[in-house]
Amino acid sequence: MRVAVTGTPGTGKTTATSLLDVPVLHLNDLIREAGLWTERDADRDSLVADLEAVREAVGDWSGVAESHLAHHLDADRVVVLRCRPDVLEDRLRDRGASEAKATENAESEALDVILSEAVDRHGPADVYEIDTTERTPAEVAADIEAVIAGDREPSAGDVDFLDYL
Ligand code: ADP
Repeated sequence: MRVAVTGTPGTGKTTATSLLDVPVLHLNDLIREAGLWTERDADRDSLVADLEAVREAVGDWSGVAESHLAHHLDADRVVVLRCRPDVLEDRLRDRGASEAKATENAESEALDVILSEAVDRHGPADVYEIDTTERTPAEVAADIEAVIAGDREPSAGDVDFLDYL
């Protein structure tokens, strides 16, 4: 079973998956440590990942992989963590992100960018949207465990943050 946990930066992927009782592949660490990127995006203070190299590096993976890029991997189930854009912006600012980065990610979240990419690649039947806005990391981890166990129905598009644009 391959479960990809994705979502806009700040939705809580790292925090929630660190509470799971299974090993987690943190893709962003792999990308940085193995140099699986093509260029540095100075405006965003981030690396542009080489997705083909990432797919090759993870190979025949299993378990849980987390990253805002995890939905670009082949996977059996894709969890998309969501967060209300104004709350997301606060989380990112509190984490020390620049104003520009916090705003850009909040807009991207309002526009369902990652959810749309996940549905385009995997189809709605394999996508599980989890709204983390009013849930603790432990509750989110329990929701992810329910996906892994097959105890949760797929869902995509139930969350609507367009009013926050
Ligand atoms: P991601 O890995 O998706 O970028 P993080 O796990 O790093 O997100 O979380 C971003 C910030 O939001 C951190 O400061 C974290 O403490 C906080 N956070 C994560 N999950 C929650 C949650 N469920 N409720 C409130 N704050 C959270």
